[in-house]
Amino acid sequence: MKVRYSYLDQQFAHCDDLWNELKKFVATGDFTLGKPLVEFEEKFAALIGSKYAIGVNSGTDAIKLSLKALGVGFGDEVITAANTFVATVGAIVELGAKPVFVDCNDTFCMDVSLVEQAITERTKAIIPVHFTGYMTDMRRLMPLSEKHGLPLVEDACQSILGAIDNKNAGTWGITGAFSLHPLKNLNVWSDGGIIVTNDDNMAKKLRLLRNHGLVDRDTVQIMGCNSRLDTIQAVVGNWLIPQTRDIAQRRMENANYYDSFLKKIPELTIPPRPSGYRIVYHLYMVFAERRDALLEHCIKNGIEAKVHYPVPIYRQPALNYLGHCEGDFPVSDRHAQNVISFPCDQHLSKEEMDYVVRVVSDFYLNPRV
Ligand SMILES: *Cc1c(COP(=O)(O)O)cnc(C)c1O
Repeated sequence: MKVRYSYLDQQFAHCDDLWNELKKFVATGDFTLGKPLVEFEEKFAALIGSKYAIGVNSGTDAIKLSLKALGVGFGDEVITAANTFVATVGAIVELGAKPVFVDCNDTFCMDVSLVEQAITERTKAIIPVHFTGYMTDMRRLMPLSEKHGLPLVEDACQSILGAIDNKNAGTWGITGAFSLHPLKNLNVWSDGGIIVTNDDNMAKKLRLLRNHGLVDRDTVQIMGCNSRLDTIQAVVGNWLIPQTRDIAQRRMENANYYDSFLKKIPELTIPPRPSGYRIVYHLYMVFAERRDALLEHCIKNGIEAKVHYPVPIYRQPALNYLGHCEGDFPVSDRHAQNVISFPCDQHLSKEEMDYVVRVVSDFYLNPRV
C-alpha cells in the first residue's frame, strides 16, 4: 500500500462548476482587485470572525505587510518562535529587522513563559506562530502584549479555524496572517495570502500597502508594493471556502483516530491536547523514539512520512549572522531529533490510516526491522 503526503490531485478533481465560474469570470476582464476578490475577503472575514480581511499575494506578505503597517523597520527587533517555517523569519528580515527567537514547548508553539526575557527596548512586535495547526497560548500572551505595549501579528498560516475557547487563530492579535498556498488547509491554485484585522486604521493602511499606496488612480499616499491577491485565485477561493469547516473537521477526526491507536505504542508520545484548544492539524506530529529508523521504515513501506523540520530555522546557515548555535533553544533541538509527521488530510482513507498504524506498530514490535 502507498500512503501519499500530497492530496492535491484529489482536491480539485471534481470541479466542473468551478471551471464554469472561471469562464464567466475571464469574460468579465475584472482581473485586478475585482469583484470576486471583494466577495472572498468578505467571506473569509465572516469565516474567521474578524471585521476585515485583505487579500495579498502570499502568507509571507501577509506577515510582512502587517509588520510594515506597524512601522517595523531597520534595527527593530521582532520576537518569534525558534522553530517555524522560514517565511515567518524571512518577513522580519526583509524589513531590515532582527528576528529574536523564543523556544517552543511540546505544542510546537512558542513557550510564552520565555517571552518576557526576550523583550528589549528595540522590540517592536511579537509574532506567535500557530505551528502545525496548534495555537500559541494566547491566554497568557495577550496580557504580556498589553503590559509591554507590543502588538501581536499572528502567523496563522497553518491554523485556519484553529482556536482557543472558540476564539479563532488570527483574531487575537492586531492582525492575523493566513496563507492560501497549495499546501495549506484552504488552498488556491497558486500563491496567495490574506490578512484579518478588527482595526479600522490597520485595514485602511494594509489595503494601501498592498496596492502601491494608491488611494486613487493618481495619488500615492504612502509607499507600498504590489501584493494584491489575484482575483482569479479569489474565484478558486470562493469555490473552496464553503468546505473549510469540513476540512478542519475531517483533519481533527483523523488526528483523533491516529491518537487512539498510536498512544498505545510506548515508544511514541502524543503531544499535549490542552482543553479548550481546537487544533486543526495542518500537520499531524508525534514524538518517536529511534525517529530516523522509523522514518526510513515508513518510507520503505510506502508511507510518505516527513520531518518538520530536521534543522530548526534558528540554526539555518542564512541566519549564522545572529550567532546562535545548537543548544540555544533545546526544546526545538529535541523536536528536530524526535518529531515525525504522518499524512492527516481530509482526503485520507481509514484504510490508509490503519496501514500507517500497522506499519508503525510493526516497527517497534519487531526489533529486527
Ligand atoms: C506557509 C507558511 C507561511 C508563508 O506562506 P506563503 O503563502 O507560502 O508565503 C508562513 N508561516 C508559516 C508557519 C507557514 O506555514
